[in-house]
Amino acid sequence: MPRRKHVEIAGGGFAGLATATAFCHRGWTARIHEAAPELRSFGAGIFIWENGLRVLKALGAYDAVVAGAHEAPGYEGRDENNERMSLHHFGGDCRMLTMTRQHLYAAMLAAAQRAGVAFEISSEIVAADPTGALIGADGNRHEADLVVGADGVNSKVRQSLGVKTERTTFTHGVIRILVPRGDQDLTETNPDYVINFWGPRLKVLYTPCDANDLYLAMMVHKEDDEARAIPVNKKVWKQEIPHLAHIFDRIDDQGRFDSYEMTKLDRMSVGRAVLIGDSGHPMPPTLGQGAGCAIMNALGLAVAIDEAGDDLLDGLRVWEQRERPLTEHTQDISSLYVRNRAGSDGGNKWDAIAMRTARHIPTGTADIIF
Ligand code: FAD
Repeated sequence: MPRRKHVEIAGGGFAGLATATAFCHRGWTARIHEAAPELRSFGAGIFIWENGLRVLKALGAYDAVVAGAHEAPGYEGRDENNERMSLHHFGGDCRMLTMTRQHLYAAMLAAAQRAGVAFEISSEIVAADPTGALIGADGNRHEADLVVGADGVNSKVRQSLGVKTERTTFTHGVIRILVPRGDQDLTETNPDYVINFWGPRLKVLYTPCDANDLYLAMMVHKEDDEARAIPVNKKVWKQEIPHLAHIFDRIDDQGRFDSYEMTKLDRMSVGRAVLIGDSGHPMPPTLGQGAGCAIMNALGLAVAIDEAGDDLLDGLRVWEQRERPLTEHTQDISSLYVRNRAGSDGGNKWDAIAMRTARHIPTGTADIIF
């Protein structure tokens, strides 16, 4: 019997789980090293579009994700006076689902476990050797046919590979919070919509995740120390967007602030080491496609390497050529919308250019029928 090929992966986030699952489905063995002492997702809510749903179906996580997620009947923009500026409907052929991050993570983790992925928790990776090994903080070498840096935006694997990096930072960032939904949350509009509430200086993206949970993405200038404080300075936010005061009252001491950033790399792989997800292509969250691109690229990688047979390096070349243009397009369009009201005020955020990623049929999903 031929030896099963093996992939070692740094990082047990969405990118790492998707990569490991996709390779196991193609006869490989896969092991994820997660630096944290437990497997879980941090953050509050998340948007997954049609492209991501197709990948989740291919990974075996779709049914569990859709059960209990929220499909908003519309996407609305409201101004400082709480007047509607826009209302957009996406239609059934390009769904936009919202959910808690933990809901998505649990479904993807269960799919990975069913596929036979092995996990090492509290296992920090500090470098990759392009000949085919991950190096642990404890000095151990983990050899494999392919090694993957899926270790997030501050990737040590990326730094160790010395890939030329172009980093863009932005003026704004976001506080992410989960609060309970209330029966009377919004009387002025449909409380099941996803809604951008604009204040003069701050903005809140109101996102139902399920019947109980509401995700607030609170956008603020990164130098606005008063408004970006954690715990959230409710007084400032209530003054700015008074019609959400009753919802701000439900915020506890939780929450985190992340500033927006985008990084583009000269190349996504060096030898047998490859970068996937935020380690390779972080982007502002304005299109809600960072994780979508991460899992598309993960599945696309497994497909390309499977197709390449014994010529793994050719598989990596084909993968990068095939997947990278859409990822870079998504990064570019996401960057345009950092401080732009399009999508809220009837602007063109939902045009064919911005929706290209959501409408894309990811590699490895052409045969999927829902
Ligand atoms: P991560 O989720 O960061 O996972 C990396 C994992 O690696 C972590 O578990 C970490 O503990 C582990 N790790 C780190 N260092 C090491 C190490 N040295 N060794 C071992 N393990 C390590 N995307 C969407 O698709 N839809 C959205 O709605 C959306 N909203 C967003 C909102 C905000 C405010 C932000 C900031 C991002 C948003 N994104 C969204 C983007 C999305 O969160 C990321 O693209 C996605 O989480 C990337 O997954 P990842 O697995 O690459 O990285």
